[in-house]
Amino acid sequence: MASISKKTSQFLEQGSWIRKMFEQGIALKNQFGEKNIYDLSLGNPIISPPEEFFIQLSKFANENQPSNHRYMPNAGFNETREAIAQNLLKETNLPINQSHIIMTCGTGGALNVALKTLIDPGDEVIIFSPYFVEYKYYIDNHSGQPIVIDYDDNYLPNFNQLDSKITEKTKVILINSPNNPTGVLYTKDTLTKIGELIRKKQKQFNSEIFILSDEPYRKIVFDDLECPNIFDFHEQSIIATSHSKDLGIPGERIGFIAVNPLYTKSTELIDGMTFWNRALGFVNAPALMQRVVSMIQDSSVDIKSYERKRNFLYNSLKKIGYSLIKPQGAFYMFPKSPISDDVKYSKMLQENKVLVVPGVGFGAPGHFRIAYCTTDEVIEKSIISFKKTFEDLEK
Ligand code: PLP
Repeated sequence: MASISKKTSQFLEQGSWIRKMFEQGIALKNQFGEKNIYDLSLGNPIISPPEEFFIQLSKFANENQPSNHRYMPNAGFNETREAIAQNLLKETNLPINQSHIIMTCGTGGALNVALKTLIDPGDEVIIFSPYFVEYKYYIDNHSGQPIVIDYDDNYLPNFNQLDSKITEKTKVILINSPNNPTGVLYTKDTLTKIGELIRKKQKQFNSEIFILSDEPYRKIVFDDLECPNIFDFHEQSIIATSHSKDLGIPGERIGFIAVNPLYTKSTELIDGMTFWNRALGFVNAPALMQRVVSMIQDSSVDIKSYERKRNFLYNSLKKIGYSLIKPQGAFYMFPKSPISDDVKYSKMLQENKVLVVPGVGFGAPGHFRIAYCTTDEVIEKSIISFKKTFEDLEK
């Protein structure tokens, strides 16, 4: 008899191929040396956090102040929540303040807290493919039902399908921009269309439908573009985000939830989410990190370095003959696999020492994901392997 639940076995089994690929990647690194395997499979940035991070970290670490390390109200330190609210005020004219913010254990924590608070068993949560791998698990954690919407030629939502798949059971539409795995940014036009469609459906079904905006990459945008603030597009909207990527500190697990101040029941929503932040076992976001990030809301990693990496990789892959859309943000690319079997092509790349993730894991077979949050050297060397693998197909 198995010690683990049937569902755990089932999920482990479903994800076993991806685990196998990672294991093969590790085996290759052991065989050929870490330096000789070009790992573009992980969204774990190697870029250093900004200097201000280390300055504030050592300041708070050396301050003999027990209150820096104790429990605090479950929503987080008031000073930190206020600093976050002040920073959001730069993006939107809405009357946002600390009462609209909850500090969380990363975006992952934020999404789980928000979903737990919003959905009853069987409620539908709409996600757009290609989607972040964890979404289906997060939705299942709270007995929700994921409804997947296809993408159009630009990796934006297929609006006809979205129109037909919003039902009276739809409670949440989960969006992610800039996007993992495509790097696509949702423009004002796209967000306006989503907002208008939701309001039409809310009227039709006499329901409330929330936009949950997953945006850990919001500061990582290129070509002088800006990531619009979701609060300007729909009243029932919630931001779930973190400093994992913009400060390059994913291991520190510091993020936050922000609720649209225009939402008439925002107090009830915040109370509910604060309760679940505690009762899901997070209790509160890491105290020391709350102190540190409250001081450096204007800082980020060097975004231009990601833009340079994007330019180099995009131009090089295009030149080889890969078909791909130029990402506008985050640090991912999602080329089409030159053969329809993306798992097979990812294995071929692996044989040539490049590690990527097949698109099937993101609900978009026929593609593969490149994470370029690594060194220039690794990216440059990977190009030789991308070329060889592509050209081998023609032989
Ligand atoms: N959402 C997306 C789209 C992500 O890519 C990630 C991490 O890669 C997360 C959420 C989780 O991020 P965090 O480290 O803030 O929990």
